[in-house]
Amino acid sequence: MGRSAENDSAGRSRMSDDHKPLMGIGSCLAGNAVRYNAQTKSPNQYVRGLMDNFEMRAFCPEMGAGMGVPRPPIHLVGSETEVRALDVDSHQNDFTEKIAEYAQTVLSLAPELCAYVLVKGSPSCGYERVKRFATNGHRVASDQQGIFAAALAKLDPLLPLEDDGRLNDPGLRESFVTRAYTYHDWKQFTQSGLSARGLIEFYSRYKYLVMAHHVPSYKLLGRMLADAGKRDLQQLSGEFISTLMSALTHRATRRSHSNVLYHLSGYLKREVSGEERQRLKQLIDQYRLGQIPLVVPVTMLKHHFANKPNRYIDSQVFMAPYPDELQLRNLV
Ligand code: SF4
Repeated sequence: MGRSAENDSAGRSRMSDDHKPLMGIGSCLAGNAVRYNAQTKSPNQYVRGLMDNFEMRAFCPEMGAGMGVPRPPIHLVGSETEVRALDVDSHQNDFTEKIAEYAQTVLSLAPELCAYVLVKGSPSCGYERVKRFATNGHRVASDQQGIFAAALAKLDPLLPLEDDGRLNDPGLRESFVTRAYTYHDWKQFTQSGLSARGLIEFYSRYKYLVMAHHVPSYKLLGRMLADAGKRDLQQLSGEFISTLMSALTHRATRRSHSNVLYHLSGYLKREVSGEERQRLKQLIDQYRLGQIPLVVPVTMLKHHFANKPNRYIDSQVFMAPYPDELQLRNLV
């Protein structure tokens, strides 16, 4: 995919590919010279991997707040529970509201966003542990979320957020991408109109993925949809998607993944020989013990189901929650 970007006056850019899910990204990370010192920030290999698999749309909240480039740097000043984005030199200029308001602009400009890559440490775009200063300019803690990041999370609590630093963690990366594709899927699904039956069918594809991430949510979602036809559909769908997205924020472990793999291998009971079943079980055991990555038993399962197709298993998002090129199952 071409990663060239066209910029507008707020440092936004759009990298074109109409067929991939749309992900937001801090403009400086996307290669635009929009930092306070007119520099860019180099994306790490994992952010670059996302650029190849998603349509990326870049936004700069400080440019969007009219701050220009180059500009005086800002930092967060205040108490643990309330900070303001003030210019570092004088603390006389407060940009808090304008930066926060830009979150609404982003969601209005790109309602189809399925996730957003924030920028580590930024007083506007940092996901967590952003530095906080006292009114005398002394650093007091690193306990804040950037102003824009916090506003975005508040406006759309379902939108998966991570920063470039946290994406170095394989488990966080895997969860982020899984949630991004899920939210994209949900947005596509709701475009065609809601129905109780549609909701049940949607969840039917996610059952094993949810089971891998959080068994209590798996049970809760099952109960929630049991009387779907009798519930108010709007309210039910809101509860449903927030429970589903929250379930996927739980890290899937080797144990929970193995549990799902054992379940799935049960569908092959009568389809493959005892020897092949034994080999599959061995691979799942090896995975559970940390000796091989998840991709190995999943590939074996896919191989068996390619020979003996099963419509229900084919429909399971667990089997392919994201493109193989992202190689997310090679490290977890
Ligand atoms: S961190 Fe955010 S506000 Fe700062 S330059 Fe990058 S995109 Fe703009």
